[in-house]
Amino acid sequence: MHIFDSDKSPSSDGFAPFGVYTMDIEEAQDLIRRIYLERDKERGMERTLLRTFQELAELSDAIAKEKLTEEIEAEVADVFAWVISIANLLEMDLGKTLLRKYNNACSRCGKVPCECIDTR
Ligand SMILES: [Zn+2]
Repeated sequence: MHIFDSDKSPSSDGFAPFGVYTMDIEEAQDLIRRIYLERDKERGMERTLLRTFQELAELSDAIAKEKLTEEIEAEVADVFAWVISIANLLEMDLGKTLLRKYNNACSRCGKVPCECIDTR
């Protein structure tokens, strides 16, 4: 089940309807676009990349300090949201690109699971 199942538009209050608990890549990219695209454009790519690195540092810190699972998960969500902002600034379709690059297998060796010897 996904948010905005019927028409890809938010409910009147902007939140996912009751009982809806996940979203796919396209929905996530659309959500982040609607919330942040104008601000992302004002900030620009260079500073958006910098903020993404900062969020990754916060995630690294949360893991290193063995913070609560929900805090670590929130940091992962932040990193993902910033990566989506980069995708939005590039006007790319993240879901289609992921599928094209990782089409049901490792993008390099073509195997599931990956059998590359230099990625451990
Ligand atoms: Zn591989």
